[in-house]
Amino acid sequence: MNSSIVDTRSIGANNIESNGNSIPRPHGGKLINKFTTRKNIDGLFSIEVSIDLLNDIENIADGTFSPLEGFMGQEDFESVVESGRLKNGLAWTIPIVLDVNDKMAVEIKDSGEVLLKNNDDHFAVLNFEEVYSFDKIGMSKAVYQTEDVKHPGVARTLAMEDKLIGGKIELIKKASSSPIRKYRMSPSEVRAEIIRRGWKTVVGFQTRNVPHVAHEMLQKAALNIYDGLFLNPMIGKKKPGDFKDEVIIETYRTLLEKYYPKNRAMLVTLHTVMRYAGPREAIHHAIMRKNFGCSHIIIGRDHAGVGVYYHPFAAQEIFKHYSDLEIQPLFFPAFYYCRKCISYANERNCPHGSEFREELSGTKMRELINRSEIPAEHLMRPEISKLIVSYNDPFVK
Ligand SMILES: [Zn+2]
Repeated sequence: MNSSIVDTRSIGANNIESNGNSIPRPHGGKLINKFTTRKNIDGLFSIEVSIDLLNDIENIADGTFSPLEGFMGQEDFESVVESGRLKNGLAWTIPIVLDVNDKMAVEIKDSGEVLLKNNDDHFAVLNFEEVYSFDKIGMSKAVYQTEDVKHPGVARTLAMEDKLIGGKIELIKKASSSPIRKYRMSPSEVRAEIIRRGWKTVVGFQTRNVPHVAHEMLQKAALNIYDGLFLNPMIGKKKPGDFKDEVIIETYRTLLEKYYPKNRAMLVTLHTVMRYAGPREAIHHAIMRKNFGCSHIIIGRDHAGVGVYYHPFAAQEIFKHYSDLEIQPLFFPAFYYCRKCISYANERNCPHGSEFREELSGTKMRELINRSEIPAEHLMRPEISKLIVSYNDPFVK
């Protein structure tokens, strides 16, 4: 746990009246813990996996992906693709799988136990259970609602190897610390911190962007009602033009320091790839935040969307099919600055025309930064703008 995000003054300081809710149980009932202290790994067959898989293996091990204990077997995989639920009926919308080529599949099957490495550094053991083939187009249509290769999730799926390996994992060691991982916390650490702070209701906020004042106002609207805010930027592979991870982390750290009461918000990073799966990913985002102890999650317009593949409200509509989720989605309208209201407003409380609205789009933001200009102070906090401009190239290539 990083001490700079834990405010020791907040003990017992929570005088916000709670509505009586309490933080939900982990998804499936208990937090999964797949850390191992085993040492007898000499001579095991080993395979190299990507940094994306390394992150997801750690997410399995520390319970972020509870109740998963490893990579999905065929029954769970097919059930998730077809119905958005594990074979036991529990909500789960994104396949968590290990893909390998045919030759590797045979070697893994023969070995039984396999050492997983990244950058030639071993970090986990996979206990082989099964190997199976899968339909990449079928998976794309179900998860991403398209087979268009221009969709980043579809492109990723089609580029996968042909065989999937199912089996539980054991984590030998976490990835070594780095500035990017400084704000990573496990669900059990976050839950302990929520309890320590006395929060009864916690709102999760998913982001892959730097904070605009519009985002801040939306988050603070939630803080008017709920005890705590769990700011949880997603760190990992993104598409070109998105902000780099370190820029997102540093801007949020600065925002928290300058503009939030110390005992009402916490910043923790979530290390997994954006899948751009729209509605299905919204459910996945909710499940992970439930595991961290959030009672609520803000689901925005076109949540986890990309291009025009999903209806803007599809990510909100899908929650109707997941009334058993035990984390409540909050469907906030987008906030904008209204020159007539002289304040931040949204379509629910502002009657004025779009000619009075000021919004900072991603495109506008990029144009400004590429000219080393900064947005108006009421659209982006000056500390945040200055920080972004201080990076040579704040965007993913
Ligand atoms: Zn207005």
